[in-house]
Amino acid sequence: MDFTFFFPTRLVFGQGKFSLLGEETARLGRRALLVTYPPRSLARVVAQAQELLARHEVEVTLFAEAAPNPTHHTVDRGAELARQAGCDVVIGLGGGSAMDVAKAIAVAAPENAGIWSIYEGRPISAPSLPVVAVPTTAGTGSEATFYTVISNPELRRKEGFARPQFFPKVSIIDPLLTLSLPPRITAETGMDTLTHAVEAYTSRLASPVSDLLAAEAIRLVGLYLRRAVADGGDLEARTQMLLANTLAGIAITHADTCLAHVIGEAVGAVFDTPHGLSVTLALPAVMEYNCLSNPGKYAGITRLLGAGEGLSERDAALQSPGLVRSLIADIRLPAGLAAIGVAESDEVTALVNRPGMDASNPRPADAKAFELLIRGSLSPSMSYWQFGGV
Ligand code: NAD
Repeated sequence: MDFTFFFPTRLVFGQGKFSLLGEETARLGRRALLVTYPPRSLARVVAQAQELLARHEVEVTLFAEAAPNPTHHTVDRGAELARQAGCDVVIGLGGGSAMDVAKAIAVAAPENAGIWSIYEGRPISAPSLPVVAVPTTAGTGSEATFYTVISNPELRRKEGFARPQFFPKVSIIDPLLTLSLPPRITAETGMDTLTHAVEAYTSRLASPVSDLLAAEAIRLVGLYLRRAVADGGDLEARTQMLLANTLAGIAITHADTCLAHVIGEAVGAVFDTPHGLSVTLALPAVMEYNCLSNPGKYAGITRLLGAGEGLSERDAALQSPGLVRSLIADIRLPAGLAAIGVAESDEVTALVNRPGMDASNPRPADAKAFELLIRGSLSPSMSYWQFGGV
């Protein structure tokens, strides 16, 4: 029951709030680095952002290089550009990839150091630049977390790093920006939100406050993800999914994630798969592995997903992984790691099996457990239980 709760980001949530970008940014700086994707999916929104910023006399330097699974090279290039242009504020406009690159640049630019050296423990001594985060996916919650997730292709690593400096100063969270997401990205990112919520809810670090946020996020995903995938123009579903994404982001900042993220990030590092998909494919087997270690919480998940009426706590807990498998099938995501190229006992197993990787998970995991979890995640016809896992 002991906890501390610190959350310094101002959240501005609502349909149409993107129009406040110029005003909100001008309060923090006069020369903005605008970090986004290469021009394609968000071209219109980026043009709108430039217009909104110009209206408030904010000079803009565009850094449109934030590709999915961003690397430390991208961050270092962006930091160099921010220094050259004398930027005093950084805007991350896009999904987790764009927001994470922005958050990392805001620390690396004034520090005048490679971001990976900071991740490896180099102390942060210069004041970081303020960040304005504007999510365009409903998935990572990066606008509400103190994480950045950056890949190091040379080391084959993709990891989340937590520092208080990574909290955005302000996040503008506008569901209208998510209407253009295609069904597949809606499904993958929406499942990322569910994975955050389930893992924060069941983490060893869960607190009464993170539980409130995570439980509500689980309930909202259960009600609205299918609708958002089936009809991208369903504004109510988009709004509730974006809210779930932010709530789950705050929850993981306080309660961390568990083994589906450990496995998912290793898969992302090796196979460069979309983050939401990698964690989703690991989630059901991880729930099978964990559910009887904390049946109260897993029975809670079943009930938050609208099932389990009349069942004992044990039976409701055991039902929870199957409900997640059905959701994955309904939104037409591949249901197994084999579909994205993972094989038994490949590099992923070695990457996940490192000391401390199970620190937040409700149940400890050893090398054998990781091996069974990966085997149990390979295809929809497999499960952790099938391989004799208790
Ligand atoms: P993403 O940012 O990688 O974007 C995925 C794709 O969606 C891109 O091709 C992009 O062009 C497209 N896209 C984005 N918004 C769109 C829109 N509105 N319309 C049409 N297309 C759009 O995806 P993501 O899942 O949001 O972010 C994943 C990254 O975030 C991963 O690197 C992951 O590890 C990281 N992450 C960070 C945190 C955190 O707290 N910092 C938490 C979880 C995940």
